[in-house]
Amino acid sequence: MPSAPSRQGDGRAGPQAVRAVAVAVPVPYLDALTYLVPEGVPTPRPGVRVRVPLGRRSVVGMVLAQTSVAPGIEAKPVEAVIDAEPFVPPAVVELCQWVADYYVAGVGDAVGVAMPPGSRRQESAFRTMRVVHATAFGLDTARLGGEGLTAKQRGALEELAGASAGLPSRVLKDRGITPAVVSKLVSAGLAVVRAERDERDPLLADAAAAAEGEPPGLTPDQQSAFDTLHVLAATGAFRAAVLYGVTGSGKTEVYVRLAEAVCAAGRRVLVLVPEIALTPSAVTRFCRTFGGRVAVQHSGLSDGERHDQWHRIRRGEVDVVIGTRSAVFAPLDRLGLIIVDEEHDSSYKQEESPRYHGRDVAVMRASREGALVVLGSATPSLESFRNADTGRYARVSLDRRILDRPLASVRIVDMRDVFAAEGPDTVISPALAEAIGDRLSKGEQSLVLLNRRGWATSVFCRQCGTPMQCPHCSVSLTVHKGGRHKARCHYCDYAVIVPKQCPTCASPYMEQAGFGTERVEEEVARLFPEARVARIDRDAIRKRGALSSLLGRFAAGEIDVLVGTQMIAKGHDFPRVTLVGVISADVGLGLPDFRAAERTFQLLTQVAGRAGRGARVGEALIQTINPTHYSVELACRQDYPAFYEKEVAFRRAMQYPPLFALVNVIVRGPTEAEAMTAAHLLAKGLHPTEGFLVLGPAPAPLGRLRGEHRVQLFLKGPKRTDMRNALRRALDGLPELRRRVTVDVDPMTVL
Ligand code: ADP
Ligand code: ZN
Ligand code: ZN
Repeated sequence: MPSAPSRQGDGRAGPQAVRAVAVAVPVPYLDALTYLVPEGVPTPRPGVRVRVPLGRRSVVGMVLAQTSVAPGIEAKPVEAVIDAEPFVPPAVVELCQWVADYYVAGVGDAVGVAMPPGSRRQESAFRTMRVVHATAFGLDTARLGGEGLTAKQRGALEELAGASAGLPSRVLKDRGITPAVVSKLVSAGLAVVRAERDERDPLLADAAAAAEGEPPGLTPDQQSAFDTLHVLAATGAFRAAVLYGVTGSGKTEVYVRLAEAVCAAGRRVLVLVPEIALTPSAVTRFCRTFGGRVAVQHSGLSDGERHDQWHRIRRGEVDVVIGTRSAVFAPLDRLGLIIVDEEHDSSYKQEESPRYHGRDVAVMRASREGALVVLGSATPSLESFRNADTGRYARVSLDRRILDRPLASVRIVDMRDVFAAEGPDTVISPALAEAIGDRLSKGEQSLVLLNRRGWATSVFCRQCGTPMQCPHCSVSLTVHKGGRHKARCHYCDYAVIVPKQCPTCASPYMEQAGFGTERVEEEVARLFPEARVARIDRDAIRKRGALSSLLGRFAAGEIDVLVGTQMIAKGHDFPRVTLVGVISADVGLGLPDFRAAERTFQLLTQVAGRAGRGARVGEALIQTINPTHYSVELACRQDYPAFYEKEVAFRRAMQYPPLFALVNVIVRGPTEAEAMTAAHLLAKGLHPTEGFLVLGPAPAPLGRLRGEHRVQLFLKGPKRTDMRNALRRALDGLPELRRRVTVDVDPMTVL
């Protein structure tokens, strides 16, 4: 084999071998490519960015490893080495390679999530600003009273002399100092203008301002959870622990204290939260203890902000990084603790390549860096709880709410009875209406959940029965009242004005059925005209800042009833909420997805957990037509252990995760027949005698999406390695198919 390198990995070539590097390039599905290192150039280390030729283009890639090739092997040379030091820490580079391998993704995709925005374009992503500084001469002149200057110039010079770091020109403008005045000072040698990097600090200012007051002392329960976790952290070796703590049990305080202890021992901390909306409260809480040594990483920041925060982390200026999924790749070193809050949340899974799960990458990162990873939740994922059950992870529990506040009492409203008595269009049952009215009269707040947005969930013709479907996807269109009563596809955003006549039979009887959050909001407003009602769902928060402003208004008591989707169920701590109403517990139950029951249980338990977190007792009312379904019943009792037992038995019987590993493979094509043929080819290439099962190909539940037909294969077995290897081999043998195949290892949804 001529391509076998003589001495791999040490970067120095043997007598015949030529120095080379393995480079991740930003092209989907591609494995690492090998490039030669030009004579006289030191071999760049892993994590260094290089410019390399790719076809007729030139791209910025990242060195994964130093290697060598035998002379005569075709490889192009590196065009330029961009960084003197690794841009991404080598540990993170290795983590990316693990992600690419585990999730059967291209290594370029995996490296891409670890890089701050703009870092693959070669131009700098630094937003520079003009900063005006007084010169030494200027300082002297100011000290002597600004002789010979106009009043305006003197004023400006005094401002500058008082600002040791200089003043950005826009700040000067705000203070009424014109560019003309500035340029006069400059030409007199009294000031200079420099282009400087703008260290945008998007939320630390706000959060730090909010971070007042002393943190509370830990309760005995919290203290004992802390003690157990602290012992694990202090080992300095990889440990994983599930922190199972009921809603309102004070997990955050335990995280903060643990982080404090880890930092005191000279190591750093990464905190993951499932959603952007949950970062501000976490930042506030951590800033109270860590001051400015906190950075934030999430996609809600502008590219520039993200970039600046990333570099602060990279330079070692922070002890704590708080962020969403992709923050698991933050360039921290000396990592001692990773906290994954609300670890069960499916937002941790990225639904595009690389399809990684932030929690699982966190566990892998902790294991590689000898850190403790804490997975916190009131409704742990079956995966994590089972790992605790089998002893792979430690388990720490907080069984009671802070100050022994009771969990909300949960009542089921059987909607079958309500529909019989009140008519089938009833949105809010009399029981729920009464409960909301009661809270309004007491000045308390309510949350109303419906995990379905829009006004009506379908439009159909009453004469011929034809529903309005998306022309590109196999789903019916949802009517939205905002946006001029359009019918929209929630998958591809296709939208049409609802026609007056049926497009099929021309009858004038177009009817709407089903309802979403928009309708609920209106119903609440109709029943309680005096109430201040607002709504949070993906439509309501499209504008930047809308979500935090709504949450802020609710927290400040400016909203009485907040209607929303699962967004309002997560993690928030609103002490004045005493009522939670669930309009329909049934929304997710009908989905052909093996996680349907788990999702429903989590959602109901979590949303019920938003009630009664303050001094007053909370109540939850759950409307359902499935009152005896175990996920509904056990959520009402808030009995996670019982749900876990029941669900694990079901998964075992069905050979589903976490008892078996599952890979969902979707093959797409312009027609179902073509997708099916391709899927059969792939299935044949898998040779499923190798210790796993292949189920399918069969049409996917979501048979069409954005104009493409979708066919599905399940791979199931005890070991992922076998399935991954078989998939890689099969896909390598079918390169023309690669772009039409989506591989989802450990899928969170199988639609
Ligand atoms: P969880 O994340 O477990 O649902 P939180 O961490 O949000 O719970 O805490 C619930 C509430 O209890 C918060 O309002 C928090 O400020 C308060 N809290 C936490 N720990 C203490 C404590 N030791 N003493 C008093 N209040 C506390
Ligand atoms: Zn019709
Ligand atoms: Zn569509």
